[in-house]
Amino acid sequence: MFWNKNKFKKIKCSECGKSHLELPALAFKSPANYSFLSKNEKLEIGELEIDFCEIHYEDQIDKFIRVNLNQKINDSCESLQYGLWVSLSDKSFSDYKSNYNNPNHIVQYF
Ligand SMILES: [Zn+2]
Repeated sequence: MFWNKNKFKKIKCSECGKSHLELPALAFKSPANYSFLSKNEKLEIGELEIDFCEIHYEDQIDKFIRVNLNQKINDSCESLQYGLWVSLSDKSFSDYKSNYNNPNHIVQYF
């Protein structure tokens, strides 16, 4: 896990106009399934991009996407942001990837 921003900095809030400390976004560089692989396995069966990850096992391919979870904070203008990895079926992964740059594509995967 890493902090997306190096330092807490003051930002002028667009909601109330006051200055707040900017909250860091918490993010993981890769899904746990990928980080558990050995160095060789990562090279041989793993494919990691900023927002996509695939692990090619002999009998199956696991596919993951990185998503943002915004958590509203009570009595605050800001929300906490988490960068999370979720696994998707082959069909949903393909659909998500092919519509990655399409802002009008709204779906629910489960
Ligand atoms: Zn504010």
